[in-house]
Formats: sequence, C-alpha cells, structure tokens
Amino acid sequence: MAIGIVEGRLGAKPVLIISALAKVTDQLLEAGNAAAKGHLGSALATVRNIYVRHEELADSLLSASAYGSLDRELRGEFQALESFLHDLETSRYFDLKAQDRLLSFGECFSSKLVSWALSEAGLQAAHVDARTCIVTDARHGQASPLWDVTDQRLRDVLNPLLQSGSVPVLGGFIASTMDGVPTTLGRGGSDFSAAIVGAAVGASRVEIWTDVDGVMTTDPKICSDARVIRMLSFDEAADLAHFGAKVLHPATLAPAMRENIPVYVLNSRQPEGHGTEINPVAARGRCCFAEYRVWSA
Ligand code: ASP
Ligand code: MG
Repeated sequence: MAIGIVEGRLGAKPVLIISALAKVTDQLLEAGNAAAKGHLGSALATVRNIYVRHEELADSLLSASAYGSLDRELRGEFQALESFLHDLETSRYFDLKAQDRLLSFGECFSSKLVSWALSEAGLQAAHVDARTCIVTDARHGQASPLWDVTDQRLRDVLNPLLQSGSVPVLGGFIASTMDGVPTTLGRGGSDFSAAIVGAAVGASRVEIWTDVDGVMTTDPKICSDARVIRMLSFDEAADLAHFGAKVLHPATLAPAMRENIPVYVLNSRQPEGHGTEINPVAARGRCCFAEYRVWSA
C-alpha cells in the first residue's frame, strides 16, 4: 500500500518518514521495563516477537537475496537490542535516556524494511538515519530540535539525494543530541519529524498517512456518525491536538506553520480520499472549531 502511494508521487520528489510498526514502540517499552525489573526472559521474548514480525513482513515483500541482506542488517540490530536489554537487567536502571535509545530501534527496523521494499519495487530508495540529521536538546522522551543545525543537516543530506532522483527514507520520532546520543520527539512524534523535514527542504506539502479518513469530528471507532473535517486552519488543528485528538502530535504543525506548508491527513487504506487539509488561512465555510467534539483515545 505504502509503495503504491509513493509510486504515485514520484514526480513530486517525496521524502518518506516511517513510524515503527504498529504497537512496536509499546512493546519495546514493555521489554525495557521488564528487563530493568529483572524479567529478562520476558523482555527477550517480547523482542523476539518483534523480530519475527519484521522478518515475516520482509519475507512477504522481498526477494530471497534482498531478504538475506536485510536479514543480516536486522540481525545485527536485534543483537544490539538484546545486549542492551541485558545491560538494563544488570543496571536495573531505565531512565528516559535509556528509554530513547531503546525506542529508537523500532523506527530503525521499520525504515530499513520500507527502504528495502521500495528498492525491491524498482524505486531508487536511500535509507537515511534520522539520528544523524535531526539534532535536538537532551530533553529525553520529548526532545526539541535545534533548528539551525537540523535544517542544515537535513538539506545537506537530502537535497543531493532528491536531485539524483532518490527517495530518501527516514525513521520518524527519532533524533539525537549534538553528541550523537539518541533522543525521541515524544510519542506520536513521526508526524513532527515529517513537518521538520518538510520545512527544512521547502516541501510543497506534508502528508500524514493514518488509518482514518482525516481529522474526524469524533472518534470513528466509537461513533458511527463521525465525519471528516475537510479543512482546518493551523490554529484550529493545534487546538484539536491540544485537547486530545489523537490524529496529530501537538507540536507537529509548528515547523509547517513557520514555512506556510499545508499539511494533509490522509487514510492509507483509502488513498484516493480527500482527507483533511490543514492550511495557514482560517478554515472556510461552516468549519468552526466549537462545533467539533474532540476525543482522546
Ligand atoms: N513509534 C512512535 C510512537 O509510537 C512514534 C510514532 O508512531 O509516531 O509513539
Ligand atoms: Mg502517528
């Protein structure tokens, strides 16, 4: 599905920001907590599960030789992950800094997988480690980008790739400090990563692909009459996020807002849908924030 979406947008020179596979971040967190409490067996079993899921997906998407190469990379990463869990078991110390290091594995795995899958589909994909370009302060668990150096590094790495016709693929959510210590941008932070990258390279639009049709009036899993909000202003969208709408990370819009880049929230299961457009100007028509019920799930 994601491959089709990218293929349809090659002319626009896309950059891809990939989240961890569903639930992986929660599972990594669970594994870290278990290891630090001395339950190493359960932590390793959780990680094993994550490994099998990636392997199965790779198996379904890749040819035997590409699968072999990715598998070698993934095995190395998983060994590092397992040895980190051993360290946590020994130290019994799992602070936010250790958590960031642990959680960053999820986006590393998924972005490598997607990059290989795109190459397999004949696209010129180029995996870029987001931790080498998105530089943040050391507020672990909720780090903020150091804008100048981040913008510069992203441009330096991404522009030549884009010029040569490659599709850069980066893990969302993950970054690092000036000294290269892994950080994360807060849960759900891949949307933020997309806006950071979009702003740095002067993108004409940022698209956030989710499993709902766009920003909805209420939670479609709870209310069958949930409707898609077709257009929102940045202010209204930030309010929605602030009040707990799950679809957007509260800080996501800041870089896009700064550069006046419209943000689209779209459904990957219904790629032809209109989704929601969030743009700099106030929403038109009867689109009024006060009408919407806001949910948190
Ligand atoms: N994987 C991270 C999380 O679950 C980031 C994201 O998905 O946007 O919070
Ligand atoms: Mg998300």
